[in-house]
Amino acid sequence: MKKTHMETKMIHNEQAGHNETGSLTTPIYQTSTFSFASAQEGARRFAGEEQGYIYSRLGNPTVAQFEERMAALEGGGKGLAFASGMAAVSAVLIALTKAGDHIVCSNGLYGCTYGLLKMMEEKYGITHDFCSMETEEELKQTITNRTACIFVETPINPTMKVIDLEMVSRTASLSRIPVVVDNTFCTPYLQRPLELGCDVVVHSATKYIGGHGDVVAGVVVGSHSFMEKLASSQQKDIGGILSPFDAWLLIRGMKTMHLRMDRHSANASEIAARLIRHPRVKHVYYPGFADDRQTAIVQNQMKTGGGVIAFELNGGREEAEQFINRLNLIKIAVSLGDAETLIQHPATMTHAVVPEEQRNAMGIHESLIRISVGLEAVDDIWYDLYQSLSED
Ligand SMILES: *Cc1c(COP(=O)(O)O)cnc(C)c1O
Repeated sequence: MKKTHMETKMIHNEQAGHNETGSLTTPIYQTSTFSFASAQEGARRFAGEEQGYIYSRLGNPTVAQFEERMAALEGGGKGLAFASGMAAVSAVLIALTKAGDHIVCSNGLYGCTYGLLKMMEEKYGITHDFCSMETEEELKQTITNRTACIFVETPINPTMKVIDLEMVSRTASLSRIPVVVDNTFCTPYLQRPLELGCDVVVHSATKYIGGHGDVVAGVVVGSHSFMEKLASSQQKDIGGILSPFDAWLLIRGMKTMHLRMDRHSANASEIAARLIRHPRVKHVYYPGFADDRQTAIVQNQMKTGGGVIAFELNGGREEAEQFINRLNLIKIAVSLGDAETLIQHPATMTHAVVPEEQRNAMGIHESLIRISVGLEAVDDIWYDLYQSLSED
């Protein structure tokens, strides 16, 4: 079989046939339903005896294009798109657990994933434990006989610590526990968890996949059998589906994902290096900057360090807020992966839902600031940071 490079797969879908008109870009099938040629055809489609579209909550050709591309990029059997990253995360966690189960998660999670786990615990008695996953022993000790899945973010938002996915998948497979990876910060261009032995990948496609800050979306990729289950339960009966137009925006964004990720990463590593040298900066957290162990993991599983940096200034919340308020070019906003450089204060914004004690245990102190480094000229980004650092 011809081995097509990742960059080419982002632009072409080998599976897609020639469409009726020869339209170069994917048409937007803005339709809620699909008509059948006969009653029998409708019956065959409902029975699963014949391929074909029925109703857009169950499948739509524009959305399917996006799903196929994501499955090809991540190297999975099938992809499913959702209305948001959280719709994707919740679909997977609901699919993998039942009342009384246990989830092991990385010691740091997207704030709303944390909120979802809390809700699952309160309503269904599905408990969870955080684990730094620095060693195999530590992970083994956190796994119980009720553990139904392991949920990992790497790099962890917003502390930017990385977790060795090969170690996690190897350890989990001893107890046959599926490993779910939130790959939002990397995209498949930088990191492919399924190739490292993990079972399911979820993304907030809102971020680098869309890449232009104009769509909220999510996607899941996994084995064909797991994804079929997800389609027939979570997608069909919970119904947090993606709209055809949003799928079209994602397909469009995806075509430049490799160029954008290279530039985000180059800008971010340069900004991280300049921040470290500034006397007002206490710590910089960027994948590969921490220690030799973290660097080895980054080299093994990531193409580059990506576009997000976290750092701490000397001082606390007040100093962090003053610094943020003095910026001009850089926008104060949550989200990440856009062309514009965005800055936010995790302790009071994205991770405000996490109780203070837990936040501190995760390393989300009030002095911590997160930047999603954009695609602007690196000197302009630096100038804005520098002028704010230089004022008192
Ligand atoms: C943004 C984000 C999510 C949630 O995605 P939405 O598209 O906002 O619902 C989940 N995980 C990570 C790591 C994120 O950055």
